[in-house]
Amino acid sequence: MAVSHLSEEEEALIEAIREIARERVAPRAAEIDHTAEFPWDMKELLAQQDILAMPFPVEYGGIGASELAVVMAIEELSKLASGEWMAAFGLTEAGSGSDAAAMQTVAVRRGDKYILNGSKRFITNGGLAQVNSIFALTNTTIGTRGISAFIVEKDFPGFSVGRIEDKMGIKGSQTAELIFTDCEVPAENLLLREGDGFKIAMMTLDRTRPGIGAQALGIAQGALDLAVSYAKQRKQFGRPIADNQGIQFMLADMATKVEAARLLVYNVAEMIASGEKNFSKYSAMAKMFASDRAMEVTNDAIQILGGYGYMKEYPAERMMRDAKITQIYEGTNQIQRLVIARDLLM
Ligand SMILES: Cc1cc2nc3c(=O)[nH]c(=O)nc-3n(C[C@H](O)[C@H](O)[C@H](O)COP(=O)(O)OP(=O)(O)OC[C@H]3O[C@@H](n4cnc5c(N)ncnc54)[C@H](O)[C@@H]3O)c2cc1C
Repeated sequence: MAVSHLSEEEEALIEAIREIARERVAPRAAEIDHTAEFPWDMKELLAQQDILAMPFPVEYGGIGASELAVVMAIEELSKLASGEWMAAFGLTEAGSGSDAAAMQTVAVRRGDKYILNGSKRFITNGGLAQVNSIFALTNTTIGTRGISAFIVEKDFPGFSVGRIEDKMGIKGSQTAELIFTDCEVPAENLLLREGDGFKIAMMTLDRTRPGIGAQALGIAQGALDLAVSYAKQRKQFGRPIADNQGIQFMLADMATKVEAARLLVYNVAEMIASGEKNFSKYSAMAKMFASDRAMEVTNDAIQILGGYGYMKEYPAERMMRDAKITQIYEGTNQIQRLVIARDLLM
């Protein structure tokens, strides 16, 4: 796809990321998946190259890259290993996933502090990130209007990390439980006003879902590239399996799905970069479509590799395990469909 809206500097940065992904990240991907240890060396590498600073404005120490450049960076890195940024967003609880308003964590104002009690489940980078956005009820009787958002630092009294999850995929990403026991949070760490938390959470998810779409897109492109190269070199019945029309049709369908996903992801990134405010539906579409296609394409890649696709020797099975999470987190794809349908029926 022709990309017309990157600056020259951004084009050069994406090219550099492509090279880093190929030369430095790809060789580590299988080992990270095997050991399930957080890859601090990769984080350092991405930080040194200013890649982690891409989404943040210059005045906050970032490089203020456009949304399109950010999704393309995630896409490049996700071809080889799951793309995760170092931040923690604590919304989900054991009894409250899709239904965020069912949360139980409470925050009670006492003088110049809020006292938080409760816990958060399945938090990406939980226990690693210094700064955590945590959602808690400041009023337990008015549903979503009682949710507030706080910045909670790792060393605040009463903050601790519970269990670390053992997952199916994205093994290099730590997923943890966060526990608040009379956790003291300075009142100035309340984001906006009491009761604005649900709005902040939804606006954050609208902005981050294109990133999950880009992660899915990168995984799908990586699986397609693998399937094409394998089909050209694997011989059965005396000729490459790519000579069979049955395989060619699969590859053609996979490539079309990847390209359609790319258009949706880049489209919403361009909308955000151009200042369009009404992009929630497009963000949900990009995340849902790209992740559903990533699941199909990675599954087909395994099929094209046959028995080798089922083995850990090749990355196809890891790609399928990594693709699965993109259908689940940041709102399951059923929830994305609710977001889209609500917008249509408004
Ligand atoms: C690896 C990983 C990392 C995560 N990282 C984070 C994080 O950093 N921060 C964070 O806050 N959360 C995080 N999550 C949580 C994630 O966002 C939730 O798991 C997800 O929103 C679903 O919630 P749940 O697991 O409770 O499933 P449930 O909400 O219990 O859903 C179960 C099933 O029911 C379906 N369902 C529920 N309600 C409806 C409905 N109204 N209509 C149709 N179907 C419905 C769902 O789609 C799903 O298929 C992470 C999860 C995982 C697995």
